[in-house]
Amino acid sequence: MRLPNISYWEKRHFYRADVIIVGSGIVGLSAAIAIKKERVDTHVIVLERGFLPSGASTKNAGFACFGSISELIEQEKICGTDGLHTLVKKRWLGLQKLRSLVGDPKLELQINGGFELFNKEDEPLAEECVSKIGHYNHLIKDITQETNAFATANEKLKSFGFGNIGCLISNKLEGQLDPGKMIRSLSEIAASLGICILNCCEVTGFEERENEQVIFSNQGSFNAKKILFCTNAFANQLFPQLALKPGRGQVLITKPIENLNWKGTFHYNKGYYYFRNVGNRVLLGGGRNLDFFTEETHQFGETPLVQNSLLHLMRSVILPEKSFEIEQKWSGIMAFGPTLSPIIKEVSPNIFCAVRCNGMGIAIGSQTGQEAAALVLRSF
Ligand SMILES: Cc1cc2nc3c(=O)[nH]c(=O)nc-3n(C[C@H](O)[C@H](O)[C@H](O)COP(=O)(O)OP(=O)(O)OC[C@H]3O[C@@H](n4cnc5c(N)ncnc54)[C@H](O)[C@@H]3O)c2cc1C
Repeated sequence: MRLPNISYWEKRHFYRADVIIVGSGIVGLSAAIAIKKERVDTHVIVLERGFLPSGASTKNAGFACFGSISELIEQEKICGTDGLHTLVKKRWLGLQKLRSLVGDPKLELQINGGFELFNKEDEPLAEECVSKIGHYNHLIKDITQETNAFATANEKLKSFGFGNIGCLISNKLEGQLDPGKMIRSLSEIAASLGICILNCCEVTGFEERENEQVIFSNQGSFNAKKILFCTNAFANQLFPQLALKPGRGQVLITKPIENLNWKGTFHYNKGYYYFRNVGNRVLLGGGRNLDFFTEETHQFGETPLVQNSLLHLMRSVILPEKSFEIEQKWSGIMAFGPTLSPIIKEVSPNIFCAVRCNGMGIAIGSQTGQEAAALVLRSF
């Protein structure tokens, strides 16, 4: 490959930094901002392989959520009650940090409430979830300062007009935001702090030379004292030892729908499907559970199996009495692992990573970036 025609000035100001962060998703940008805020004289460059961030942060559903009841039940089985309390606290505080860093208007944040839906055949699960409402309200009360975050909301079923739904549980604290605006605002904050974000730059490897890290990319080689990889699902391409796997999420959005009579974020089938309103459109994603093997991929794309299941859900449950047209489809790649906590660590001397947000990056992404930033700064 022919290397770019780099000038002395370019080499000096764009190819050399104290810290180079790889990946400009929510974690990479939050880490860059936290480093600059903590130590203003640190020169930080962010390298992003895409023209836009090309993973999950601008391709997600924009749920500002911290767990539906069926998910909390599953997690409590894995990490116990204290572990679950810690997890919810991390998500809740993460959301508050993101809100205070960016500001609600710039996130287009709306607290319209969240809902978990159970279809009529899922009565045993619905009953179990309803029976746990008091338990989870009590568990999260000291975190959210709200006594009754979760409640049954069956009285709304008629007006919402969903098909074949027997039970609805609401969470009045759940919100929704615009992920594109979130990343744009984080990029603006980063730029205002003097962070340089370079796009279309794919990092292919790195090595230590004379006490410096040399980073190889399709745009030539960069030098830094420290490298922080915030490459989420793609991290195992350079670090195969990390315990994470990619998981593709397919999403579609409708054209505007006349008289859409509900607002909010909705979790269905234990969270394997999710939908929300975006103004008077419906955004719907999920269906990975239909074929985990195929969806464990780094490739963007759509499959007939998942797309058909999304359309079926739209027709039979979400908009059974309305006609709709699909405006756009896309996919994003998440990172999953055996535990829900992200991997934030020094992989080898002066090489760090902050990856694996487990499909909850809006809630924990900015906090993950901040923790990684603190780790990098402590190492200087
Ligand atoms: C369809 C979908 C729906 C989701 N819905 C929600 C939701 O509603 N709420 C929620 O909280 N979370 C949701 N998530 C999860 C959330 O989007 C992620 O957890 C979060 O965006 C992860 O952020 P990140 O910065 O770690 O990773 P990413 O946003 O994936 O950023 C990693 C970046 O690294 C770049 N990169 C990778 N390798 C290289 C390389 N070698 N060189 C240079 N750059 C590289 C990529 O291009 C990418 O931009 C969803 C995800 C998807 C896919």
